[in-house]
Amino acid sequence: MAYGEKCGSLAIVAGAGIGGLAAAAALAPRFDRVVILEKDRQLGDCVRRGAGQGAHIHTLLHGGELGLERLMPGLRNAFLSAGAVEIDVGKNFHVYDFDSWYVSRPLGFSTLQMSRPAYEAVIRKRVLDFGNVSIQTGACMTGLSIEKGCVRGVRISEGSGERELIADFVVDARGRGGALPRDLAKNGFGETPESVIGIAMSYVSGRFKRKATANEEAEAMMIRPRLPDRRYGLVCPTENDECVISLGGRGDIVPPTDLDGFFDYARMLGAPEFYEFIEGAELIGELRSYKKPTSNWRHYDKMPSFPIGLAPLGDTITSVNPAFGQGMSAAVFHALSLASALDKHGLNNSDLHQDYLEAAMNTSAGAWYLAAFADLEFPEVTGERPENFDQIRAFSRGLKLLSDDDPEIHRLGVEIAHMMHPAELLQSEEIIGRVMKKLFEAQSAA
Ligand SMILES: Cc1cc2nc3c(=O)[nH]c(=O)nc-3n(C[C@H](O)[C@H](O)[C@H](O)COP(=O)(O)OP(=O)(O)OC[C@H]3O[C@@H](n4cnc5c(N)ncnc54)[C@H](O)[C@@H]3O)c2cc1C
Repeated sequence: MAYGEKCGSLAIVAGAGIGGLAAAAALAPRFDRVVILEKDRQLGDCVRRGAGQGAHIHTLLHGGELGLERLMPGLRNAFLSAGAVEIDVGKNFHVYDFDSWYVSRPLGFSTLQMSRPAYEAVIRKRVLDFGNVSIQTGACMTGLSIEKGCVRGVRISEGSGERELIADFVVDARGRGGALPRDLAKNGFGETPESVIGIAMSYVSGRFKRKATANEEAEAMMIRPRLPDRRYGLVCPTENDECVISLGGRGDIVPPTDLDGFFDYARMLGAPEFYEFIEGAELIGELRSYKKPTSNWRHYDKMPSFPIGLAPLGDTITSVNPAFGQGMSAAVFHALSLASALDKHGLNNSDLHQDYLEAAMNTSAGAWYLAAFADLEFPEVTGERPENFDQIRAFSRGLKLLSDDDPEIHRLGVEIAHMMHPAELLQSEEIIGRVMKKLFEAQSAA
């Protein structure tokens, strides 16, 4: 496509979550008009029905922040102006994993911490600033309109009936509960192959006033459990001098929704520093719970055929255990892949879909394997374990030990976790050799 030339007249995006907004930012320079359809009737700056997960901590990884900045230059400053708290990832975000704390040291980059509704409000405003993007609230997409293998628009519910909205291109960002596989099957495209892991996670979170703590360095803290424990804890600062505390559990281990029970649960986490950090924090509003029974990866790229003019994006493709905070950033990378596939191929070209889906699936694969391999360590988690599963987990343990000694490995590992590089960078012969040596030394010392 020539510079400045538009791909088409109207693009529709279903869903005004982070994925839908990032998609709209990618499409705005490439279409005359972009209309976002959102089933929620109101989009404010508080937790809304269609994105109930927004009551829980949402960390925007640094890679996701850089991706958003590419789509909407100046967004970083807009986050800061809206009260985002900037924290040094290596020094101020303390992470307990594999039974010990990561060494606290500056790694050269930061994250901007906000509540999920606040991130969304800032991005939404910036998306509307494009001038050719509008959001239709109370507009529920009920299906696809398809003609001769091409999407020609969507159907939306209206009152007691339905109406068709014709468009040149449709992005489905309806999230993990969206019905795209059903719509595709209904239109003769067959079943969508899907990977599913039964993670049985429960989360309970609340907004609290930020308090001064004895731990001067820590601004955020995360505890990931190691068997036989199954309790997670995460606390992050947000706008308005508040913080969100999220507790997680697996299977029968469910964090309580009463305040005393919530703090008692925090006291039982793998390291006492977490409770000390949050002890006595004052709750604002109420504790909210969320259940996530499964992680899902829908393989739209493996379908025998796929309609031209349609792109699934964000949680519509992959929805994983948020213990590594990847979901919003993955959606941003999907949007960037869509922009470059459109620039390369233009519309109405099956190469567009192939190219886009391949790139989007690469992003999803990175997020999926990081989260899934950690989940599958718990025997009750259902799902397929690769033959070399024990080696994979041993590698992660060894990498943690090596990064304690070596700041460069530490930095690389955390940059990869923040989706700034592909995970393959850790698979050089040199690093594998050093990780193995470290594991051997640790075993010999035990
Ligand atoms: C407890 C928890 C904690 C999380 N923590 C993090 C974190 O720290 N960092 C991170 O990056 N990610 C986190 N995530 C994941 C993150 O919430 C998702 O990955 C991210 O929101 C995906 O964005 P999305 O736009 O694809 O979907 P969503 O944000 O779910 O948005 C989907 C939108 O589509 C709308 N919609 C649905 N159906 C229709 C319809 N038929 N018509 C029109 N609109 C429709 C919904 O109302 C909603 O607005 C967390 C998730 C959970 C459950």
